[in-house]
Parts: sequence; structure tokens; C-alpha cells
Amino acid sequence: MISKALIDEFEKIAGSENIFTDKTDRVAYSYDAAVLDAVMPALVVRPVHNEALGQIVRLCNDNRLPLTVRGSGTNLSGGTVPSAEGIVVVTNALQKILEINTADMLVVVQPGVVTAKLAAAVEAKGLFYPPDPGSQAVSTIGGNVAENAGGLRGLKYGVTRDYVMGIEFFDVNGELVKTGSRTVKCATGYNLTGLMVGSEGTLGVFSEITLKLIPKPVHYKAMMAVFDKMDDASQAVAAIIAAHIVPATLEIMDNFTIRAVEDFSKAGLPTDAAALLLIETDGHPAQTEEDAAKVESICRQNRATSIHVAQDAAERDKVWLARRNALAALAKLKPTLVLEDATVPRSRIPEMVREIQAIGSQYDLPIGIFGHAGDGNLHPTILTDKRNKKEWERVEAAIEAIFDKALAMGGTLSGEHGTGIAKARFLEKETTPATIVYSKRVKKALDPHNILNPGKIIG
Ligand SMILES: Cc1cc2nc3c(=O)[nH]c(=O)nc-3n(C[C@H](O)[C@H](O)[C@H](O)COP(=O)(O)OP(=O)(O)OC[C@H]3O[C@@H](n4cnc5c(N)ncnc54)[C@H](O)[C@@H]3O)c2cc1C
Repeated sequence: MISKALIDEFEKIAGSENIFTDKTDRVAYSYDAAVLDAVMPALVVRPVHNEALGQIVRLCNDNRLPLTVRGSGTNLSGGTVPSAEGIVVVTNALQKILEINTADMLVVVQPGVVTAKLAAAVEAKGLFYPPDPGSQAVSTIGGNVAENAGGLRGLKYGVTRDYVMGIEFFDVNGELVKTGSRTVKCATGYNLTGLMVGSEGTLGVFSEITLKLIPKPVHYKAMMAVFDKMDDASQAVAAIIAAHIVPATLEIMDNFTIRAVEDFSKAGLPTDAAALLLIETDGHPAQTEEDAAKVESICRQNRATSIHVAQDAAERDKVWLARRNALAALAKLKPTLVLEDATVPRSRIPEMVREIQAIGSQYDLPIGIFGHAGDGNLHPTILTDKRNKKEWERVEAAIEAIFDKALAMGGTLSGEHGTGIAKARFLEKETTPATIVYSKRVKKALDPHNILNPGKIIG
């Protein structure tokens, strides 16, 4: 139970209007988008400037209060489920785009800036910020950096990590640390930026982030390839990559997902198709057209029954919006949706798809498959009801079986959703015991009292 005197201290820093003590207010910060039990925080604080953010971190450390920093709470791994009696620090009042520098092609932002707003602001200046998580309309840049978020364009453009030039963050004592620089190249000091990206709020609290921008592609071509068999679609994915063509986006959807998405979005998807590939090439017009022609031919060689090229921007946007709504569409169908993101080397996509289907049969569970197939990042999705204990046991076993298959293929537990609480116990499967010990030593050195988002990543 947090004392009145301590609440007063938080009020002095953040202002009474930015302190939430009522249960009805706090409950919204007790969970995130992962399927995990909610934990009620003792207090929610909303700093409105960076100085307050640093002072809050220091106050928490001085009083050994667990602190969970939260952007929009859309992460899928339990990264913002707080500790019991802990503090949640919300960044949604720190949402200034501080600078868009078109000459140096960079942008400097506060952590609470919403991803899509940043993308739109730089696009208005003719520049491009590629990382586009499906949640971009609500997710924050701080959350994206802390999770190393990916998105639909990861295949060609990489993930958030590839755009972070520098971070200013508060260490556990509330001291400001600066990493990286505004230069394209920087080999000065330890790569602390690298350490912070994907650190899920466990090593420091970001206050300012400098991101690289690139020129906006001048041309694009979007198409939808329809298949009678899921295996043909996944073979086409592997063949496109093996032909060394790198579309901006190469997404797969199985019939289960197609029907849910079409029902939700009315985008005109063929609901009788066994599988779809949604593909976009972009860049210089000649290269874009050449790549698109090759992709089309490879899809046909792999028995695509039809290929539909978007005729205009409206048609293209409609299909991509429908794809971005896949999770929301599926979530409507059952009380509990478990979305995984085990990722495999791209050549193993057909095999991984078959393994997921076999696991579905083995555990008697419908597992929908969609995701960023072009970069090996599938999202097997299990629709269930967590209150059905027997079924939930099968779900947990199926998830572990999916992880095991991905790791056996040289894959990883998470392509983009992070470790959080959800995957912490599996980390050793992918690494070594020494890796866990090493990571725990880093954490102990930087956060001796374990107040920064305890329980995440390394448990
Ligand atoms: C519908 C839907 C679609 C999604 N699609 C994708 C996708 O395509 N690709 C993808 O990668 N993810 C996706 N996600 C997952 C999620 O949106 C991302 O993980 C996103 O990066 C989280 O951003 P957020 O602002 O919600 O962060 P939060 O969930 O609030 O926080 C995430 C982590 O970041 C930490 N954090 C937040 N702010 C800071 C800060 N200032 N300093 C230090 N640590 C901080 C938190 O402590 C937490 O550990 C999706 C989620 C949903 C619900």
C-alpha cells in the first residue's frame, strides 16, 4: 500500500490532475493486449514534461517502488502488466514531435508520439518512416522502440531497430543518459542504443528518440494472389525470396483469417480461397514493375488461381487496411485470442505452415495463420476461451510445440512482439544458461533494486 506522503510527492512532481489513485482509473492500466492475468497498480502517474519523468523514476527507485512505463499498452507479451503495488507511468502526455529535419533526414520525438501520426507528419514533408506495426494508429514510438516493433514492411525496410539513431533515457537514478548521435554513422562508445532497443522498460525510461528517415518510394504496385492450397501460397513465398526479389510487403492469410477479415472489413477478399498472398513492390517505377512482373510469374508457377492488381490507391489502401484489421477481426470471434509470432528463416516458411497445421490437429484446436510471411514471421492465432480449463491446457501445450518447431528450424521465439512475461520462461530454450546469467548481470548492474519493469524478459 503506497503511503499518502508518497502520493503527495508524486503530486508535487506531476500535478494532482496527473495522479490516478481511484480503482476505476487504475484498472485500465492493469493489463495489456497479451492474454495474461491483470495486476492492479497502486498508482498511475502521467508526467507532462521530461523533467517530471526523470524525477518520477528517481522517486520510485528511492522508495523501491516497481515502475512500469506504458505507452498505449498494445504490446502482446505482457510488457506493461505492472507489478502488484507498483507504479504505472503513462507517456501519453509526452507526445511532441520536436523536430523534423529534412536536410539530415531525421526526426526527434518524445516517447508518447503515436506511430501513425509520426509517419503522417514526415510523409507530409516527402519523407518516409517505414516501421508500420498493425497497431500503428495507437501504438507509441517509445513502445515501438522498447519492443523493437516490426510491421508489414519489415521484409524490405527492416524493423524499428534499423531506424533508431539515438535515445535519451533516464537511468534508474533519474539521471539523463544520451546514446547514439544525429549522424548516419556513429562508432563512439558502447552501443547503448542497441542495448535500449527491445529492452521493454527494464533498463531505462526513454524521454527522447531520434529516428532515421528515408526518401518516400515514388512508385508502388499492390496485388493479391489467390491460391487453392495453403501449401502452394507458402511455397510461392519461399520461391519469391529465393529468386532474390524483396517486395516491400509479402503477407499471407489462410481461409480462416480471410473469412474473418472479410466479414469485419468488407474489402472484397475472396472468402472461398484457401490462401491469399498480399504483395506490394515499391521503389523506382521500372524496378517496381519488373519486380511485380516476376512476383506474378512466380505466383502462377506455384499454382495461383488468380492474381488481382490494385487499380488505384483507394483499392490498395482498402486491402491493406483490411489486413491491418486482421487481429481485431479475429478477436471478435471468441472470448480469448492468442496470437503468436514465432519466426523462422524464410526458406522454412512452407514447412512451418505445415507444422502449425499439424499442431492444430494434434491438439484439436483451430489455428488461423496469417502474418508477415516474407520475413518468416507468421502469426499463428488460436481462438479459445481461457475459462475452459481443459482447452486452455491444450492451448498452452500447442504454443510450446509451435515454439519448439520454430527453434528446431533455426528460428526465434519472437519476431516482433517481444518477450515480456509471456515468453520469459522459454528464453533459455533459444539461448544458453550463460545467456540468461549474463542478461541478469546486466540488469542487476543497471537496476540493482530491480524496480524497472520487474519480471519482464528474464523473469
Ligand atoms: C492490433 C494489434 C496489432 C499489432 N501489430 C503489430 C505488428 O504488426 N508488429 C509489431 O511489432 N507489433 C504489433 N503489435 C504489438 C504492439 O502494438 C507493439 O509491441 C507496440 O510496439 C507497442 O507499443 P505501445 O505504445 O502500445 O507500447 P506498450 O504496450 O505501452 O509498451 C510496450 C513496452 O514498451 C515499454 N515502454 C513504453 N514506453 C517506454 C519508454 N518511454 N521507455 C522505456 N520503455 C517503454 C513498456 O514498458 C513495455 O515493456 C500489435 C498489437 C495489436 C494490439
